[in-house]
Amino acid sequence: MKRILVTGGAGFVGSHLCERLLNDGHEVISLDNYFTGEKRNIVHLMDNPYFEVVRHDVTMPFFIEVDEIYNLACPASPIHYQYNPIKTVKTSVMGAINMLGLAKRIKSKILQASTSEVYGDPLVHPQTEDYWGHVNPIGIRSCYDEGKRVGETLFMNYHHQNDVRIKIIRIFNTYGPRMHPHDGRVVSNFIVQALKGEDITVYGDGSQSRSFQYVDDLLNGMIKMMGTDDEFTGPINIGNPDEFTIMELAEKVIAMTGTKSKIIYEPLPSDDPMQRCPDISLAKEKLNWEPKIKLEAGLEKTIAYFEELLKNS
Ligand code: NAD
Ligand code: UDP
Repeated sequence: MKRILVTGGAGFVGSHLCERLLNDGHEVISLDNYFTGEKRNIVHLMDNPYFEVVRHDVTMPFFIEVDEIYNLACPASPIHYQYNPIKTVKTSVMGAINMLGLAKRIKSKILQASTSEVYGDPLVHPQTEDYWGHVNPIGIRSCYDEGKRVGETLFMNYHHQNDVRIKIIRIFNTYGPRMHPHDGRVVSNFIVQALKGEDITVYGDGSQSRSFQYVDDLLNGMIKMMGTDDEFTGPINIGNPDEFTIMELAEKVIAMTGTKSKIIYEPLPSDDPMQRCPDISLAKEKLNWEPKIKLEAGLEKTIAYFEELLKNS
């Protein structure tokens, strides 16, 4: 049994990770400031004596003795990370410094939830880990993209300078139950709009692409990465290489929910990447990992979750 700290533990991915680690027999501490996370996501875990909940902001130092740290604290949806961009940068940068300082002091392993956003609006397709990216440093997404890029820089430097045992994963668009119904990300938006019979809002002409990974596949990749030898730091792409246009996603959600909702077009936000698809050769080689859940199967579970949520709200 290990003692594991999950920052951002009350968020979408973090809550699934806490649950999975508890089920695997570990002691888990969730640290969260509840900016985008919710107690509702972890309330079902609170009876477990091996689960602890801490309200804390990662921009402030935190001390604890653990074997492993998963650093997930950071708003992930564009509307949330753009709400207070300075805070987003602080969360990424000071959060990384605080958690790396902790890992250094207690000699724990630490995994950083980085992102495909480090590739920006990519000129290389699909994206391989050796691609340096194409990011606008002063655009509306930069607080998140550049924050996460500095996060990777800090992780690498703590590793080289202080021998901290680091792991960096670059997560591609992930979806599933417990996404916030109003967080503005495309999968949750389309499903909630479809279930409410509201217009489906496609930004731009819908020809931009994304590759959607179901959350369980991400957890498998994440945990496998944490388990690799200390020499292997990443960064490593964790995503589903099945690529869809946003229009294809809208059509799938309409067909699967049987909604009467109509598609409407809204302006494409600035710096919105036109395409995104991971090259996962490295994950296949180093982790013997690849995603197993097809988009339809994942959407089915996610639609069922939102149906239940809307029924009870
Ligand atoms: P989320 O917004 O649901 O979860 C983030 C959690 O971090 C929330 O519970 C939030 O309250 C918490 N948090 C935010 N700022 C904090 C702070 N200063 N101190 C403490 N807690 C704070 O997002 P998610 O989708 O679960 O993403 C989790 C991580 O994975 C993030 O770091 C995100 O950048 C990364 N990621 C996610 C995706 C995705 O598609 N879901 C893709 C790439 C990277
Ligand atoms: N998008 C959309 N309608 C929505 C929400 C998002 O067309 O209601 C588009 C958005 O412009 C982007 C894609 O869907 O091209 C994915 O957006 P999301 O915010 O989920 O993730 P990210 O842009 O960070 O990959």
